Amino acid sequence: MLGFVHETLGQRVRFGTGTAREAVREEIGLRGAHRVLVVSGNRETGLTDDVAKGLADSIRFSEIVQHVPIASAERARKVASEFSADLIVCIGGGSTTGLAKAVALTTGIPIVAVPTTFAGSEATNVWGLTEASRKATGVDPRVLPSVVIYDAELTMSLPVDLAASSGLNALAHCVDSLWAPRTDPINQALAVEGIRALSSGLRGIVADPTAVGGYESALFGTYLSAVAFASSGSGMHHKICHVLGGTFNLPHAPTHAIVLPYVTAFNAEAVPVANARLAAAFGSLDGLSGLEALRTDLSAPRSLASIGLKESDIPHAAELCLAAIPRSNPRPFGLADVERILTAAWAGSPAVELSEKGNAP
Ligand code: NAD
Repeated sequence: MLGFVHETLGQRVRFGTGTAREAVREEIGLRGAHRVLVVSGNRETGLTDDVAKGLADSIRFSEIVQHVPIASAERARKVASEFSADLIVCIGGGSTTGLAKAVALTTGIPIVAVPTTFAGSEATNVWGLTEASRKATGVDPRVLPSVVIYDAELTMSLPVDLAASSGLNALAHCVDSLWAPRTDPINQALAVEGIRALSSGLRGIVADPTAVGGYESALFGTYLSAVAFASSGSGMHHKICHVLGGTFNLPHAPTHAIVLPYVTAFNAEAVPVANARLAAAFGSLDGLSGLEALRTDLSAPRSLASIGLKESDIPHAAELCLAAIPRSNPRPFGLADVERILTAAWAGSPAVELSEKGNAP
């Protein structure tokens, strides 16, 4: 019997390679905005200047810090309120979108988001803020951008290794959404198509970083993945990565790229239907082998040790993760399991050892 409740988030989503400048100006005009807060880091200065040229009045906030420290959010909120901003245009990766969301959360100012990575934050109503080494996340309709402008040209400046890690972050939205607390058949369909688009797009980027086709496919997969994730909520994988990012300040995309096979190995055999969907999406025998083949093709980062986690941090990290991971996770788990996942990901040892079969005596 088919029965589920699915909530669809309302956004206007534009795809158009090479069209970001016109699209931003058009959207500002359509919204009748007069005082625009442009949130973007120094890397996006050219595009930001171009966008600002067409505006009667705009102000820029460029203090972008990963995981949105509360102090940065408060400074940006002060700028927005002193300027009486009526629209936020954010141009950048997930950290930039995250800062725009932090402003929208307390002011209700609408956001036009122009992503330049595959993080996917622009298509979710999830905000994240870090205070005293703890990353808090929440859901609020005010932080969902009203408009998303996807322009693949803006992602072509990503170094290939960052494009690969960022794309694996998007792929993690797909995988986790197969077993997260509110997973449903719509999220699962989006996730499967998202994995297909991301796998082919990311392989295309690595094969020829100068061809736009791979970036277009990866951006399309990014959007599908984020819609699935926003609807399904965070599963084991995202909760682990939030702890590692928020408390140990590990870089977001590489952390996701490293942890994903370990959570996949731990969970997949406990959910045969999800595992079969993963296998179909990857065109592989099972979910884990398809993911590992992709990670090999992308030369994905392998160990949490290589990105700065200390072995002595694992017990504390495991306790924080244990408290955060939903109890609805398909395979039952305790502190020892979370420690095993973190230890294997720290060392970069074979993920298959965490699977039920790999674990068999
Ligand atoms: P990021 O925004 O921190 O960017 C990583 C680096 O890439 C930065 O140095 C940035 O300047 C650079 N960069 C961005 N675009 C570039 C481009 N086109 N070319 C060259 N360099 C570029 O990292 P991210 O992985 O995009 O986002 C991570 C953040 O997003 C985390 O804080 C994470 O929690 C958040 N996030 C939130 C959600 C959500 O739904 N709320 C979803 C995904 C990620």
